[in-house]
Amino acid sequence: MSNLEGKVIAVTGASSGIGEATARLLAARGAHVVLGARRLDRLQALVAEITAAGGSARCRALDVTDRADVEAFVTFALEHNGRLDVMVNNAGLMPLSPLAALKVEEWDRMIDVNIRGVLYGIAAGLPVMKAQGFGQFVNVSSIGGHRVSPTAAVYCATKYAVIAISDGLRQEHDDIRVTVISPGVTESELASTITDVGAAAFMEDFRRIAIPPEAIARAIAFAVAEPDDVDVNEIIVRPTASP
Ligand code: NDP
Repeated sequence: MSNLEGKVIAVTGASSGIGEATARLLAARGAHVVLGARRLDRLQALVAEITAAGGSARCRALDVTDRADVEAFVTFALEHNGRLDVMVNNAGLMPLSPLAALKVEEWDRMIDVNIRGVLYGIAAGLPVMKAQGFGQFVNVSSIGGHRVSPTAAVYCATKYAVIAISDGLRQEHDDIRVTVISPGVTESELASTITDVGAAAFMEDFRRIAIPPEAIARAIAFAVAEPDDVDVNEIIVRPTASP
């Protein structure tokens, strides 16, 4: 039996892209997945698909910018499964634009989802894991957490923050595993929130080399399946053709 089989794994942002592919793969490898995102219809369809294939999945509508809702999501996972082995803080937004465009409302949304959402996931999951004496956070950052690119200052800032928060969390706990996953460009709906015309055109061109979300799902599954005394701190997964 692998160290993934039978684990209770909560995934935020499971209604599309990387979160959806991760949920599907983890369930196929024997995890009990608990799925959250705002689009409940998409989650319900995924749960039906996983269940029909013999897997174990449940879902609940979730807005990661609402701390009480993230608490309720973790409580939902506990009620149905009795424990929480892994929390995948994956939900994210990427409305790119130059700073001079002053799309302040979009900056706020990125900070709310990409940073506060991860922190609320930690706030909800950490007390549970501390009481259990074990657990793992998988926080999804980006290659944008390592290098700033044009029109991506705020997005990259949020992803640098995910890496900083994750490393701080890791240093503070010797019973909790903390993994950062830093994808390069990956097929998903992530670019759909870009309203800036120039940034949208740049991303459309860049996305030609995108890798499938299953590639990121496999990296997450690897980090979860390692033995309990092995903490995979970070995995960077880029397209081979990435600059
Ligand atoms: P998608 O847009 O396909 O998925 C984003 C997910 O986040 C959706 O399921 C969405 O669900 C969810 N989400 C957004 N806002 C909220 C919210 N307030 N509460 C709960 N869920 C929310 O993009 P990806 O799969 O690509 O993105 C997943 C993660 O990967 C993000 O953190 C992203 O920054 C990161 N990443 C992606 C890369 C890429 O090239 N695709 C590269 C590097 C990192 P819903 O709308 O239903 O709420």
